[in-house]
Amino acid sequence: MFKKNLLPVLISTLLISCSLSDRNSGSDPDIDKLAADYVRLGLTIGLYDSDFVDAYYGPDSLKPLTSKSVTFPKQQLLQKAAVLKDQLSALAAKSPDDTLGQRASWLVSQLTAFERRIRVFSNEQVPFDMESKDLFDATAPVYTEQHFRDLISRLESLLPGRGTLPDRYQQMASRFLIPKSKIDTVFQAAIAEARKRTLAHYQLPANETFRLEYVTDKPWSGYNWYKGNYNSLIQINVSQPIFIERAIDLACHEGYPGHHVYNAMLEKVLFRDRGWVEVSLYPLFSPQSLIAEGSANYGISVAFPGNEQEQFCKDILLPLAGLDTTGTAAYFKVLSIKSGLGYARNEVARGLLSNKMTEKEALRWLTDYCLLTGKGASDYLRFIKKYRSYVINYNYGQDLVKQYIELQGGTADAPEHRWKLFEALISKQSRASELLKKH
Ligand SMILES: [Zn+2]
Repeated sequence: MFKKNLLPVLISTLLISCSLSDRNSGSDPDIDKLAADYVRLGLTIGLYDSDFVDAYYGPDSLKPLTSKSVTFPKQQLLQKAAVLKDQLSALAAKSPDDTLGQRASWLVSQLTAFERRIRVFSNEQVPFDMESKDLFDATAPVYTEQHFRDLISRLESLLPGRGTLPDRYQQMASRFLIPKSKIDTVFQAAIAEARKRTLAHYQLPANETFRLEYVTDKPWSGYNWYKGNYNSLIQINVSQPIFIERAIDLACHEGYPGHHVYNAMLEKVLFRDRGWVEVSLYPLFSPQSLIAEGSANYGISVAFPGNEQEQFCKDILLPLAGLDTTGTAAYFKVLSIKSGLGYARNEVARGLLSNKMTEKEALRWLTDYCLLTGKGASDYLRFIKKYRSYVINYNYGQDLVKQYIELQGGTADAPEHRWKLFEALISKQSRASELLKKH
């Protein structure tokens, strides 16, 4: 047994030493030490800010040795971030175009987010766009109320019946509401299909897996908690009504080829194969999140291009949910126009955070322009209060990822190429300003 395995071990040792020398050729070994300091700092912030560390699967040795102090050590943390940024900026300046320089420069932008989040956590406020630029490396475009009115008016003729337009939308959508007793059956089928479609294009680690859990009373509809070793816990919030199309959205977004695959790719390609320890920490309020949310949302149309979402709902999910398939085409037509309304959420967050919009106005925008139910709108207000400018990562992030991939030829009529470009994007350290450079 032992002898039989000796040759592969020898070969892999040689391969590892080759790849290590390749990796370090002309590079500065300091980067690994700075990356470890970055992780230590992130985990220390997480001692105080419980939303900061979304995932960590790196070595225990980088976890803080002391418990948190009574007061938030704002200045001390800011100073640590500034010193690290200076050291990494110097490394990035030495070799801006090679792997080392790009890795250092990515860490610098992550640390800019650390600094901003430390200030936000200390109730230090800046304008919405400045916050999102520092946290997510992006500034979302501004849209007026008239823009959303115009979009909504396109729905008038598609939503017959009596009452206001949001009411007529809810009447139509209610026919596609998954009964509580069928939620698990429908989700299992949607995730199995999203996984099958992803595995047809990507070679994921053999032990990749996820656990599905149903939870209540959360400000979000679904969440992926990445546990490391290619494992995810996917939670679905069943306190909110779940319409049929959301089963595919969430299966792709939280699972395949969204967050679960994104995290597994980063873990495999960068953390395990290259030893980049910074990847084992996923700080929620950082440029990484725009790529994560943007790719997870765009991934829905990668896995289900054209009208395949509608088709799969009609053929498989609606019958599984025990729902009538009549009117599915009209419903999906409405949904495709409604998808343009996502940016109204940014305006609500922008208005609320800058005190230019009252909560009452915010709720009106969310029901009138985002077509949320009363409960959906108040849940979304909770979301904004907790996650703030994070809201841009879903809509603007999706558009940036879409443009980045499609400008390189990854369009719906070149699906194989699109899967490849998507895989490349979710397997590297990237950020919004780099996606914009491709424009
Ligand atoms: Zn997400």
